[in-house]
Amino acid sequence: MIEVKGLTRYYGNLAAVRDVEFSIPEHVIVGFLGLNGAGKSTVLKMLAGLVQPSDGSVKLSGENIETESEGFRRHIGYLPEDPPLHKDMRVDEFLIWCGEMRGMSKSDAMARLPGVIKTCQLEPVKERVIQELSHGFKKRVGIAQAIIHKPKLVILDEPISGLDPVQIVEMREVLKSLKTECTVLVSSHILSEISQTCDRILVLHQGKIVADGTEVELRGKMEANTSFEVIL
Ligand code: ATP
Repeated sequence: MIEVKGLTRYYGNLAAVRDVEFSIPEHVIVGFLGLNGAGKSTVLKMLAGLVQPSDGSVKLSGENIETESEGFRRHIGYLPEDPPLHKDMRVDEFLIWCGEMRGMSKSDAMARLPGVIKTCQLEPVKERVIQELSHGFKKRVGIAQAIIHKPKLVILDEPISGLDPVQIVEMREVLKSLKTECTVLVSSHILSEISQTCDRILVLHQGKIVADGTEVELRGKMEANTSFEVIL
């Protein structure tokens, strides 16, 4: 469904991301794991069309397209690390507004809303003002805004960071239900945060993919190569 080849991004002389390649079929959750500065956000921002690659190509559903194009962005949902929520709006009003911002008619956004509220477990707070919500609910509103326009691919930058243990369990349920409707990419610093949720995990280190597999496969690689200990 998404095929990435030779994705590279330089900032001046720094290669923040180098020659990253992967492909992901539909309805799969893939994790991006790495330390601070490994290049996770840069890869995700390139796929979200927010940062221009220095080199490389991205194919979505077999079509070779520019990640910055409108055609590409229509199929992408993105949750940044610190999502810009309109905190004085009600959850339901905000999500309908986000749908309209992504080109949906108001009636289509309203028709889509109950499904999004259900997937993101926002029923108890759907009429509440965003700034009154707990951190866990705010993160889930961030996910809801990323999926309101029914994207094929949803990109979530550290959705689990800063959540308490109860909120983590709730977030895992939300992430698992997301993959019934789309393909999901999710970044994290910590393997245990995403291992129970992801079908497959790509490990990024200094801008390169250094390991790719299931949690069991990655832990096997860690035993065989102690240089992975710092990451896993
Ligand atoms: P974190 O977990 O801390 O968010 P990350 O794995 O997401 O880190 P990136 O934010 O992608 O890593 O950063 C990768 C490298 O690129 C780092 O060395 C970072 O300092 C650098 N970098 C990122 N954005 C910029 C920018 N706009 N200008 C210059 N350098 C940047």
